[in-house]
Amino acid sequence: MSAITKTLCPYCGVGCGLEAVDERSKEPEGFKVRGDRSHPSSQGMVCIKGASIAESIARDRLLYPQFRASLDDPFRRISWDEAFGLIVDKIQSTIATIGCDALCVYGSGQFQTEDYYVAQKLFKGCLGTNNFDANSRLCMSSAVSGYIKSFGSDGPPCCYDDLDLTDCAFIIGSNMAECHPILFNRLRKRHKKDANVKLIVVDPRCTQTAAVADLHLPILPGTDIHLLNGIAYLLWQWGKCDRAFIDRYTNGFAVFQSVIQDYPPEVVAKHCGITTEALEIAARYWANATNVLSLWSMGVNQSTQGTAKVESIVNLHLMTGQIGKPGAGPFSLTGQPNAMGGREAGGLAHLLPGYRSVLNPDHRAELEAFWQLPSGRISPHVGRVAGDIVRGLETGEVQLLWIAATNPAVSLPDLVRLKKALRRSPFTIYQDAYDPTETSAYAHLLLPATQWSEKTGIMTNSERRVTLCRSFQPPKGEAKHDWEIFAEVGRRLGFAAQFPFQNSSEVYAEFVQITRDRPCDHSGLSHELLDKEGPLQWPYPADREHHANVQESQRLYSDLQFHTPDRKARFGAYHGHGLAEPPDENYPYILTNGRLYGHWHTQTRTGRTDKICQMYPNPFLEIHPKDANKLGLQPEDFVLIKSVRGSAKLPILITEAIAPGVVFMPMHWGALWAEDAEINALTHSHADPDSKQPELKACAVSLEVI
Ligand code: SF4
Repeated sequence: MSAITKTLCPYCGVGCGLEAVDERSKEPEGFKVRGDRSHPSSQGMVCIKGASIAESIARDRLLYPQFRASLDDPFRRISWDEAFGLIVDKIQSTIATIGCDALCVYGSGQFQTEDYYVAQKLFKGCLGTNNFDANSRLCMSSAVSGYIKSFGSDGPPCCYDDLDLTDCAFIIGSNMAECHPILFNRLRKRHKKDANVKLIVVDPRCTQTAAVADLHLPILPGTDIHLLNGIAYLLWQWGKCDRAFIDRYTNGFAVFQSVIQDYPPEVVAKHCGITTEALEIAARYWANATNVLSLWSMGVNQSTQGTAKVESIVNLHLMTGQIGKPGAGPFSLTGQPNAMGGREAGGLAHLLPGYRSVLNPDHRAELEAFWQLPSGRISPHVGRVAGDIVRGLETGEVQLLWIAATNPAVSLPDLVRLKKALRRSPFTIYQDAYDPTETSAYAHLLLPATQWSEKTGIMTNSERRVTLCRSFQPPKGEAKHDWEIFAEVGRRLGFAAQFPFQNSSEVYAEFVQITRDRPCDHSGLSHELLDKEGPLQWPYPADREHHANVQESQRLYSDLQFHTPDRKARFGAYHGHGLAEPPDENYPYILTNGRLYGHWHTQTRTGRTDKICQMYPNPFLEIHPKDANKLGLQPEDFVLIKSVRGSAKLPILITEAIAPGVVFMPMHWGALWAEDAEINALTHSHADPDSKQPELKACAVSLEVI
């Protein structure tokens, strides 16, 4: 490797720049990592996950392809040639006997954009099935559908500089201090420096984020829309709306206005479990601010009303004109490092590359022509989303499941059911960098994939900043890049013309062409340019110097022209419906969950990092002292926590950080790391009707002392 390689942290959507520094004496990694001061998104800052990434790279790597005909057999090592032969035979026989919709892929926000793109071309284009979904379905698909409904297109309008420019940050459903720590540090710096900057945090739990807020609103889980409509009601009552903005740049306000009449402060406060004073302070902060920035993540998105919640946040910005200007706007924070790139490359079952939709005939035709495929090849139907894949395994409609760079045997809801379904799968391919994982136990064919440090490609972070992640180490064992594997399968299936790529730079060069004139225009970008100029934000059109919005890539909608047919943003009008599974007499507590500062999702990497494991040796259940007393619990007692679907056993942590009636457990522990401590053995799979994102954030449980 060269002395210093600039790259990107492969953990969260903040997308911090990293420098990998050659250090041969450091065994077994051979390099150390530090923050990249030249990266505009992070300016040299890095959290413990990024700083300790090197340690996880060498451990428990999957090094060569392995196969077994039955899950009860041991794996045997096979060659790549044999592995490709098995895949091609299975795909061809499945299409011949049942049809292409019996094939399913479940990918990941850990993919680079090139991996996503080649997979879309193979499955949605060449093979004609839209059954490609990704773990982003669990993460931010409600933000996607909310943005599309409000603005006519996906795409977070804001940028990280807005954290320095806002005078009211409204954080809802996000524990930024632990989950997006570098962004929160930046916001906190501003907040500390200027007493006029207000920080409102909406969260049922007093998180590290809420603990430093000017106002913490500990609303009951599932009452977000009540709160948001309640703030809107007060702003309207106080005459704090921007009527000129509403009339000129939006549609649908009259219906929204009629809906919010049902949300006077006394109704909202009672429903949300807060005081009317607290509600009024929140509305007052909004009303008095010059620039309001809303920030949210899974606490909003993971809900059966996730899309409506996102639209309800946007409504507040539209009624006050708080969008398209510095320091203001509705800003969704993505979880995975390249969930944004996945959206751009069409990596969900309803999307096509370039922010296109499978439901739009013009979009399908554009892609078919570009990919040199027969007209009508791309299916007009939304493919199987994560939940549909499980149902398809149960009914036998899914005959081949290809899982890549993700660990659904921990992260999907209702795990007891999921694991049963995985056992029924006739043929499961698991393509990953690690083995064992909880999901590798359900595979017939294991394919070793390269990972961070071994592959070069593109990732886009939450502020639409595109970074070239460079490789600086050879692949481990026989590992191949994800895009290479998909492309080779495509060639062996007879699509040699569609997959001529020699390297990821060529893949990206093709991808950017089909983003031309789309909202996520990358057409001026290339590996070479990003190598030379460093990370850049989209839109970045090829004719950039002639483009009207050349200065506007930092913020979307600064011209207040939205992507709807009439160029106006849309109000969505919703009533809150509460939780899909409210507590009852048998399951009287609401279980919520979230991430911890050090761990990442299902611990595939961080569980192999000593320093992080020492920080968080065990899972736990947070419970309020009142509930602990009621149940006769003492500190460090264990409880059996049960939902209608499954159970877990955990030590308790008695704390006033959680409200009475609500309990919290971290999401990170799967069967590999702790026995009987899987949050998703308890959660349900009810999902938002638009985004299909499951309500992972809340289910009803009972507690018993053990
Ligand atoms: Fe990596 Fe996210 Fe930490 Fe930045 S904040 S170093 S992107 S995990």
